[in-house]
Amino acid sequence: MSETDSMASRQWLPPHLRSLGTTIFAEMSALALASNSINLGQGFPDTDGPEVVREAAVTALREGKGNQYPPGIGIPELRRAIAQHQERWYGQVVDPDTQVLVTAGATEAIAGAILALVDEGDEVIALEPYYDSYAACIAMARGVRVPVTLRTPNFRIDVDALRAAVTPRTKVLLINSPHNPTGMALTDNERQAICDVAIENDLVVISDEVYEHLIFDDRTHRPLATMPGMADRTVTISSGGKTFSFTGWKIGWAIASPSLINAVRTTKQFLTYVSGGPFQYAIAQALALPDEYYASLTAGLQAKRDLLAQGLSDLGLDVCVPEGTYFITTDIRPLGFEDGLEFCRALPKLASVVAIPHQVFYDNVDVGKPLVRWAFCKQDSVLQDALNRLSVLKAN
Ligand code: PMP
Ligand code: GLN
Repeated sequence: MSETDSMASRQWLPPHLRSLGTTIFAEMSALALASNSINLGQGFPDTDGPEVVREAAVTALREGKGNQYPPGIGIPELRRAIAQHQERWYGQVVDPDTQVLVTAGATEAIAGAILALVDEGDEVIALEPYYDSYAACIAMARGVRVPVTLRTPNFRIDVDALRAAVTPRTKVLLINSPHNPTGMALTDNERQAICDVAIENDLVVISDEVYEHLIFDDRTHRPLATMPGMADRTVTISSGGKTFSFTGWKIGWAIASPSLINAVRTTKQFLTYVSGGPFQYAIAQALALPDEYYASLTAGLQAKRDLLAQGLSDLGLDVCVPEGTYFITTDIRPLGFEDGLEFCRALPKLASVVAIPHQVFYDNVDVGKPLVRWAFCKQDSVLQDALNRLSVLKAN
């Protein structure tokens, strides 16, 4: 959408939605296409996931599985596979019939949970920089977002700031770990602090764990819902997109207590009702892949992280090495730039590469201004090519 179209569309929107605009991912991917740039912006792998999983989708389509509306809560095979996945990796026991809801990607689970749980004026505390759909969904629910800012170099959680952010209007803590865009993964202490704050203040936690298997250097992911006192107050959200490298299939899910799942289901049923029938069968099979699959996914991405981190550092950028996800954050000031949004809009012309500016994910825009996010879920040759192109910046 052009800037003018985007301005014109605003007149139709109610005031509380006027700040939403076009997502930065759409803007930057369109820029990459138009300028024939290497797209290290939007987070999607440039190679598809396992062939057996793709074949499972083809088989489901051919056998007429899921070609008509699947059940509203998701096919039983997938709900069982999700429950088994939680037990296998985290020892978390959930009932696939009452505690699992299949959604159109994690995106719909986030929207469903926020619309179900947040009333007008309710405050939602979220880690800033926020994944962009959080701010949009909180706005749609007419809630109020309250940031707890993560700062360079390590993006650790300021536990005192988290405690201070709670007010009598706080309803939800919205947590994301491993965290997009910073790559931060919760430490044991941070996880405990979040749970303490949630329990002491009787808050619901929405825990976005889509990068649960993209965690590096022998760190392990632990769902917040498995912490003492958290099972009945946490909505865990994940999806098959990142774990199986099929981001276009949009098979996601929410896991929670039966009453919380019912609340989320109430809104979800009027968003899409159902989606992705045949892909649900394929993701059910994917979740049961052997441990080696998961280990090689992580190891492969860790090697890509190292390649891109080293290359960006050699260019002179300040690199924050991520603990998880497939994004690296850099501070662009050592190269003589100040404003990440201007930098990212100019980058296709300067170097035929696209990246994502952090600042669009902040209320405290100045904190994010010099930060830029680079996706490394790309073939090594593509990462290398991007680094070669970026070397023109060195002279600046
Ligand atoms: N949460 C976070 C933190 C994300 O980065 C993304 C994008 N992958 C999503 C949710 C949305 O996931 P999905 O594509 O499954 O809707
Ligand atoms: N999650 C992806 C990212 O952060 C983008 C998904 C989207 O385009 N909405 O890059």
